[in-house]
Amino acid sequence: MFIKKLVVQNFRNHKQTEIILGEGLNFFVGPNAQGKTNLLEAIFIICVGRGWRTNKDKELINFDSDFYKIEATTQKDFGEVLIEVSYKDGKKYIKINGVPIQKVSSLMGQVNCVFFSPDELKLIKEAPSDRRRFMDIDISQLDKNYFLALIKYNKILAQRNALLKSQTEDIKSGLEIWDKSLIAVGEYLISKRIKFLKNIEKRLQDVHSVFTNNEEIIKISYENSCGESSFETALINAREKDTRLKTTTIGPHRDDIKISINTRDVRSFASQGQQRTAALSIKLAELQFFKEITGETPILLLDDVLSELDENRRAKLIELTRGVQCIITTTEKNDAEVGAEIFNISKGEVILNSLQQKQSQ
Ligand code: ATP
Ligand code: MG
Repeated sequence: MFIKKLVVQNFRNHKQTEIILGEGLNFFVGPNAQGKTNLLEAIFIICVGRGWRTNKDKELINFDSDFYKIEATTQKDFGEVLIEVSYKDGKKYIKINGVPIQKVSSLMGQVNCVFFSPDELKLIKEAPSDRRRFMDIDISQLDKNYFLALIKYNKILAQRNALLKSQTEDIKSGLEIWDKSLIAVGEYLISKRIKFLKNIEKRLQDVHSVFTNNEEIIKISYENSCGESSFETALINAREKDTRLKTTTIGPHRDDIKISINTRDVRSFASQGQQRTAALSIKLAELQFFKEITGETPILLLDDVLSELDENRRAKLIELTRGVQCIITTTEKNDAEVGAEIFNISKGEVILNSLQQKQSQ
């Protein structure tokens, strides 16, 4: 799948931007703070209904306006799909082919994207919450039920934690009620995540070998906060500790991903470059997995990634993403590959685009 046309209104510093994208490589080029990443963010919202830099839609509205609107015309195997996301007066409106949809979950899977920025190093070295976020956003794109289960889990977890913090005498019987539903949803999330990472791992070594000339063995797996026990046993065993600490210490909200290179944990042993390559390989493995499972190629969004890669890895990246619509931001015009569509961005406007230039000739 690919995005043919993107229209962005009053979104961050873009008051009215309209672009026709190419099917392959697209470069957003311009100096710092001109609105390149903002356009990627708009595309990301078309895919998953929310931005990655903020949860607050209000912050996305242009300072001089009271609404934002993003429209994307996408080409899928079976035809065109128009997706609109807008926000006004504290409410988000989503339409698919002109039909309003009530839930963000219905947007999931319409247009899939894989997003990568230097920030994705978080995937490797930062807090477990960043790694869980990676799994949660990406599995949700593939599976609406996962997204819904995640919302449900967080609601039950909040209730359980409120109970643990309360002054209630009979916490134990309250826990028995909450735990039943928490266990059912939690086990579902854990099994989906394990399956997802197994699928990533199946494709990961091949991708990583292209970048590293077969020199490294990379592994990725799920790190369970329950240890060897099932979630049910672990949660029940943790009741006393949870009551003492007034919070839920076990469960999918405490789990993590383990990544190793040559059997050593990447978090503590890998160099910056190795960490970056590992993160990129994981994202590209994911791209392949998305493609195999949905039958459509997802869109690859790369924010400021090229300048961080050496020439060899850059060439490998372009090679590995052939046939994928890639949207790449860069400050360096020279980064743009021959034959790619180039959009020069300045102060929230596209001032020149190679497709329009061709059309006017
Ligand atoms: P860099 O190369 O530094 O990454 P960029 O071109 O990717 O730059 P963006 O992050 O897309 O830059 O845009 C940054 C600009 O958008 C900033 O100048 C910021 O002040 C502006 N901006 C952010 N939110 C809003 C908003 N709600 N309304 C207007 N402008 C905004
Ligand atoms: Mg940027």
